[in-house]
Amino acid sequence: MNVVIQSALLPTYARADVTFVAGEGCRLTDSDGKRYLDFASGIAVVGLGHLHPAPLAAAQAQLQRLWHVSNLYWSEPTVALSELLSERFGGAQSFFCNSGAEAIEAAIKYARKATGKPGIVALDDSFHGRTIGALSATGQPKKREAFAPLLDVTFVPANDTEALEGVLGETIGLVLLEPVQGEGGVLPLKPGFVGAAAELATAHGALLCFDEVQTGVGRTGTFFCFEQLGVRPQLVTLAKGLANGLPIGALLVADEAAGAFVPGDHASTFGGNPVTCAAACAVVSAIDDELLANVRARSAQITARLPGSRGAGLLIGVELDRPAAPVVDSCLAAGLLVTSAGENVLRLTPPLVVSEDEVVEALAILAEVLA
Ligand SMILES: *Cc1c(COP(=O)(O)O)cnc(C)c1O
Repeated sequence: MNVVIQSALLPTYARADVTFVAGEGCRLTDSDGKRYLDFASGIAVVGLGHLHPAPLAAAQAQLQRLWHVSNLYWSEPTVALSELLSERFGGAQSFFCNSGAEAIEAAIKYARKATGKPGIVALDDSFHGRTIGALSATGQPKKREAFAPLLDVTFVPANDTEALEGVLGETIGLVLLEPVQGEGGVLPLKPGFVGAAAELATAHGALLCFDEVQTGVGRTGTFFCFEQLGVRPQLVTLAKGLANGLPIGALLVADEAAGAFVPGDHASTFGGNPVTCAAACAVVSAIDDELLANVRARSAQITARLPGSRGAGLLIGVELDRPAAPVVDSCLAAGLLVTSAGENVLRLTPPLVVSEDEVVEALAILAEVLA
């Protein structure tokens, strides 16, 4: 093979030709000193903005006290985070890991152990991560093809209650849904479908898991997106925004579905790391009514100005009449970070703290690029 090596990193990403060296709030600075407005947030991760003082102070204080002891012992920030999340959920136990995909792996194992049924139903165009288990539940053939054979997962179209009902039964132990399909194109599920999915899952002895890795932690205008759907799932996965940029994932198990895991069933050396959990506690505490109101107000401000936009809160997709990738590149050159989700969909995921003026500035850049 004739391969030109350009970097000592495996080339799993098509990286833009820019190196960022500093950030504050919704602003980034690159290695040439050029400034950018960040409407990507590290893929819906840096919800409180770069260098937010609350998680920064919490992580710094913990860094100077204790970094790691493992889950063979108790750590105060780990326990505190589980209590904060239980309070937000209304009664749940947490398993902490280090990424969204790991949280999905935990959900897959939990559902198997709890129901005794190995089958999984997920949706076409879903995204649940890149490990073999999470990839198996990802309904995008292009991402899967080269890695077969995967776990046996049944896919049904989003919002198709009849199709879902048709595949549930003896073998399905897990129904896995993103309340808003993020990577698949920013497609919100219909509340009617979600309600039916919850009832059908219960009727057929399966657990319903909402993958809120992208939609959770205030991103859609409520702490969990499912709060807007009138449904209470048994399982929820969180990750991206939970520690404002430090690596973390979580599986929440509702108290009514508790008891399946016992010591030895699942583990993670780094999961529940004290520094990460201290930062996450500060993040969860910062997601208050005022911040959530800002998410909804800025969302309305953006969608009113962008015909063809959809999503929830500050997870916004804009269906373009052209491929999104060149638009993403042009925005970057013009000083605005955005991402794409699928071929023709531009994705805006600014920090939840974004101001009215910053939205005006971003929309002006976007209008110029699209003109
Ligand atoms: C990003 C994402 C994942 C995977 O998270 P990683 O931290 O990249 O493993 C899983 N599910 C959803 C909905 C996501 O958006």
